[in-house]
Order: sequence, then structure tokens, then C-alpha cells
Amino acid sequence: MLTIALTGGIGSGKTAVTDLFQEIAAQSEHPECLTIIDADTIARELLAGSLKESPNDAIKAVHQMFGPELFTSAGQIDRTQLRSLIFSSKTRKQQLESLLHPLVYQKIDSTITALAQQTTNTIVIISIPLLFETNTENQFDRILVVDIPVELQIARISQRDHCSSSLINKIINSQVDRQSRLDHADDIIDNSGTLEELHLKVASLFQYYCSLAHKN
Ligand code: ATP
Repeated sequence: MLTIALTGGIGSGKTAVTDLFQEIAAQSEHPECLTIIDADTIARELLAGSLKESPNDAIKAVHQMFGPELFTSAGQIDRTQLRSLIFSSKTRKQQLESLLHPLVYQKIDSTITALAQQTTNTIVIISIPLLFETNTENQFDRILVVDIPVELQIARISQRDHCSSSLINKIINSQVDRQSRLDHADDIIDNSGTLEELHLKVASLFQYYCSLAHKN
């Protein structure tokens, strides 16, 4: 089984790329060969539990670290409060990340272990926006970086999220820089072109990954 960590800066097109991989695999001869794991989705799911109904480790740890005021009366994490807490304090943000990241990686590991038992599953793409920031790049067979220039990142994110370019710049500056990502990449998708061009690039990379997985 071939494991590929997919990463890239905010708004580089990670979701567009994983959606295309899924679409292209679904139309291939072996639709069951590809699985996508998304670290952001896992983190969201971990925080979606409730304190009142057999809370998972993430919910318990957030409660212990940040106290009951971060929870609604129904026992769920108050997303708005959590967001403002993270934005108001770098320390709080780091605390939450150090609590959450090991749990996310545990879930990724256990999912990969389970997939490795299935002979039909030969390619696993794990989307991890903060791959380099969490020093986990050595755990995977390949690293795929989705890359666009900073100006395009700002343009696409402000169009998608309707937020200010200063906020986007702040997020970009909190992430690893573009060149470091590129320096560590085995494969790079330049997503500065159209969505049609992206489709062609993803289709050709999918063929390449199929040939690598076949050799493994
Ligand atoms: P985030 O880091 O916020 O999770 P992301 O890396 O997953 O973002 P996407 O959401 O896939 O990025 O793309 C960001 C925005 O740019 C979206 O609105 C998407 O539709 C658009 N986009 C992605 N690729 C292209 C492209 N080649 N041409 C035009 N728009 C694009």
C-alpha cells in the first residue's frame, strides 16, 4: 500500500485536489483502490462529541484544559467561543493543538492499519494541512504539495471566505513558508491554472501513483 501525505498552504487547493482524485478513481477500473483521509475532518469529528454522552478523549481533555465555560448547556463545545479563544491567545492555540494533534495522528494511524488489511486498497492519500508544522512528514511514503503563489492564495481565499487580506496574510505567515514545503515535496501540483488544467494534472498523478502502488 502506498501512503501519500498531501499538504499545501491555506487555499492552495487541497480539497479541490482530493475531490478530483476521488472523482478520477471512481471512474477508473479499480474505484476501490483509493481512500482519502482528511486530518481536518478527523479534528472536527473529535470536537463534535458531547460531554454528556460518553465523551471521547478530545472532549474530556478540552474540558479539563479550558473549563466548562467553553461548553454549551447541552455539553457541546461552543465553536464561536473556541474560535475567539484561539484567535485571542497564541498560547491557548498551541495548547489546543498539542492536545488535538496526537489524537488526530492516532486516528490516522489506526485507519491506515485497518486499510492495510484490505488487499483492494492500494493508495491512501492523507490530507494534512499542517504536515510540516507537526513534523510528521517522515511517516508517509510520499509527500505531495499543492502549490500556488501567495497572491493567488489571497485572491482565492478572500473570494471563498469573504475575509480580509490582512487576516489571510496572518494565517499564511503562521504556516511553514512556501519554499520549505516545495523543498520537501516528492510530487508537486502547480494549481495556479484553471480547474480543467488541475483535472489533467491530478489524472496523470493518479496514473503514476497506480503504477507505484502496483510495484510495491
Ligand atoms: P484550506 O486550506 O482553507 O482548507 P484548500 O487548500 O482545501 O483550502 P480549496 O478549498 O480546495 O483549498 O481551494 C480554495 C478556493 O480556490 C476554493 O474556493 C476553490 O474552489 C478555489 N480553487 C481551487 N483550485 C482552483 C483553480 N484551479 N481555479 C480556480 N479556483 C480554484
